[in-house]
Formats: sequence, C-alpha cells, structure tokens
Amino acid sequence: MFIDYAKIHVKAGDGGHGCVAFRREKYEPKGGPAGGDGGKGGDIILKATRHMNTLLDFRYKKNYTARNGEHGKGARMTGKNGESCVIVVPIGTYARDESGRVLADLTRDDQQVVLVRGGKGGRGNARFATSTNQAPRHSEEGMPGEEKDIIIELKLIADVGLVGFPNAGKSTLLSRISAAKPKIADYPFTTLVPNLGIVKIDDFRTFVVTDIPGLIKDAHKGKGLGHQFLRHIERTRVLALLLDSSSKEIEYDYLTLLKELQSYSKELARKPRIVVVTKTDLQNTGQIETDLALFKHEKTLAISSVSGDGLEALLNTLWDVLNEH
Ligand code: GDP
Ligand code: MG
Repeated sequence: MFIDYAKIHVKAGDGGHGCVAFRREKYEPKGGPAGGDGGKGGDIILKATRHMNTLLDFRYKKNYTARNGEHGKGARMTGKNGESCVIVVPIGTYARDESGRVLADLTRDDQQVVLVRGGKGGRGNARFATSTNQAPRHSEEGMPGEEKDIIIELKLIADVGLVGFPNAGKSTLLSRISAAKPKIADYPFTTLVPNLGIVKIDDFRTFVVTDIPGLIKDAHKGKGLGHQFLRHIERTRVLALLLDSSSKEIEYDYLTLLKELQSYSKELARKPRIVVVTKTDLQNTGQIETDLALFKHEKTLAISSVSGDGLEALLNTLWDVLNEH
C-alpha cells in the first residue's frame, strides 16, 4: 500500500514555577508563607477526524508546541495551566517515536491520544510550611514539558486511477495537479512502480491520484506490464480514461481501452469513470467539440496539462464523482 508519511517535532508546555511569597496584611507584618503553585504545562494531543484524508499539511508545518503553565503568585494563587495543543489527523493515522514504539493508532472519529505530557507545576512555598519551619523560603521549579520527534503515518488508498495508453498524458497531468508525492512502501509489484500524487483542491478537499504506466493493447492477456497494472487499478474508486486528442483514432483508442478493462474484469468496467480528452492545446476548438461529441454517453471533459485549460473543472468533477460513490 501507499504510505503518507511525516515527521514532526512536538514539545509539551513547561510547568510554571512555584512562588515564594508571604502574607502581607495590615497589622500583621509577618504573615505566613503564601506562594502559590505553578500551573501545569499543556499536553500535545493527537486527534482523529474524518474530515481529512492525507497528511499533506504536515509537509508545511512540522513544529508543534503547547503553552507553558503560568508561575504561581502571591496570596496562594496557583498559576494557570498551559493550553494543550491538539494536532488533527485523518482517521487511520498512527504515530511512532523514533525508537519505533507506537504512541497512537487512531481508528475512530474524534479519538484522541496524548503524545507528550506537559510538565507539572512547581509547588509554592505555602506548601512547605511545617510546625518547625513556619516561614519556608523555597519553592519548586516547574518540570519541563516532554519533547520528541514523532513519525506519523497513514495508509493511503488511491481514489482516482489515471488510465490510458502510453503518451496519453497521464504523468504530465499527475505532475500538474498533485501537490505532493507520498513515499511508496511495501509495494507488492516489483517491476512496476505506480506514480502517486495528492491533489489538494482546498483545505477540505483532497484526494489521491495514481498513474500507472504500462497499459497497452492485450494487457489483459498479460502482455507488457498489463496484469500488474490492472491489479493495481482494481483498488481505485474512480477511473479517469485519458485519450490523446492528437491521436488519429480517438474513438478506437477509447474502445480498445474499455475492452482491455472489461477483459480483465467486469468489475473494472463498471467502476465509476470519466473520459478525459487530453492535449487540447494542440487542437482547434472545432476538433475538440467533435471529439467530445463521440463520448456523449460518458461524463467527458477536455483538458490541457500544458495550458492548464480544464484542469480545475477536472478536479471538481473528480471530487464530485468520488463523493457520489
Ligand atoms: P503518459 O505516457 O501517459 O504518462 O504520457 P506523458 O505524460 O509522459 O506525455 C506524453 C507526451 O505528451 C509528453 O511528451 C508530454 O510532454 C506530452 N503532453 C502531455 N500532456 C500534454 C498537453 O496537455 N499538451 C501537449 N502539447 N503535450 C502534452
Ligand atoms: Mg507516464
């Protein structure tokens, strides 16, 4: 499977120091000890949400710090606890420290785990008064918050598979629309490495696209790298069939592609899909209209990865189709 991976640094808040103070009241010049305790430092918490599906944001922000506890004050006032820092991640995320120990394995919406704890606040001198020492002049320091490097990982499922013959424009499209390339781990097929990209339309709409090279005519018979390709594409939720508009026989390409998918598995041919006519910058508008008309029975779009025409519409359409299914 694909693994989205990020390394972050977390630092819990330090505890506030205890205070040394004495009561000072009118007519009572030598009051007892009154230094309050320091507040506890904030924790670093990892929390799962179903509203995210990649770790993309962690490529940009790597350091997370919780607030320190406030120091204790006179009149036995305890310092305020530091605010915790909540790091929100997709469901399915697990966290390890550098030794490999699993710290969190989040499988449910809103599930949360403390990654590192804030330091305890120090005790103020009011706590140290005894019958023999009624005016203690010492207090404790707050404990430092824990600090760690954390590795977070998420198994990704490719949402969209780009399907097309060589030169249809798959790789170019993927490089234009994806914001990041996750690392590929434990990939079961040795000779064929799919390209994978994370598409981010905005903060709330991200999905994973994969482009696998190697589909050619008769792939279902095991020709070329066909089988490996098709096995992989089986795991995606939506297919985008890419057709090169500069091909002389775009309709034939389409039918051949469909037949390949069908011959491999009926399931594949029934997967939700859209047809994408590529390289429109090489054609005049009339030609594109003619091409699009050929596939009226499908959801069809025209794009150019070079000029960028149609890319935004493509992403929005893919998002909609993904959410319909
Ligand atoms: P793949 O084999 O399907 O991955 O195809 P590639 O992405 O490698 O593209 C094949 C060739 O078509 C490359 O030379 C690309 O530069 C070119 N190409 C891809 N997309 C476009 C496009 O939108 N416009 C033009 N003019 N060329 C494109
Ligand atoms: Mg390619």
